[in-house]
Amino acid sequence: YHFQNTHFITSAPNIQAMPEDSGIEIAFAGRSNAGKSSALNTLTRQKSLARTSKTPGRTQLINVFEISEGFRLIDLPGYGFAQVPEEVKKQWQKSLSEYLQDRQSLKGIVVLMDIRHPFKDTDAGLIQWAVDCELPVLALLTKSDKLKQGARKTAILKGRETAKVFGGNVRVEAFSSLKKQGLDVLQNTLVGWFDQ
Ligand code: GDP
Repeated sequence: YHFQNTHFITSAPNIQAMPEDSGIEIAFAGRSNAGKSSALNTLTRQKSLARTSKTPGRTQLINVFEISEGFRLIDLPGYGFAQVPEEVKKQWQKSLSEYLQDRQSLKGIVVLMDIRHPFKDTDAGLIQWAVDCELPVLALLTKSDKLKQGARKTAILKGRETAKVFGGNVRVEAFSSLKKQGLDVLQNTLVGWFDQ
């Protein structure tokens, strides 16, 4: 898999508008500002494949990328904006849970969380849904360069403790786009999911 060959396919306004459910896809999710776009750009060695929307509450799109034919990366809209109306949040959660449950091509989900405040309610909810759908989860504790080595180690161990509660296959690793920490784990995990 040549991650650097990843290219944009389409933006979908909702799950129903996503491309045909064939091949294999892996979804990336996280709170807004968690470092999801940076991680996708780091993975694909591209400067601006994934772009951030800094506008809270703006209608966000699902961006679909393809590494090679039939192998997709799905950039789900960032969540966690307080300003988004409750009704919109509920609707999104509903379609997201349907996506996790019904999407045949979905083989795993990468959840990005700032290492300084991981496992917020929405993150935990998403991870639990994924586990309940028997999907493997890679939980990346992002911006790991923001912590010194000791604090980073503590955060990882604590994260792994927390992840046990979900029961399923949840791997917790530190990640830094800035320092390229965890990039090998991310790549190897995706390859494992693509190859299964
Ligand atoms: P997104 O909203 O989840 O797509 O987050 P972005 O990728 O746009 O990142 C949000 C902010 O965090 C930006 O200001 C990034 O420069 C910063 N950021 C992202 N990844 C890292 C990282 O690995 N280290 C540091 N120090 N900052 C990061």
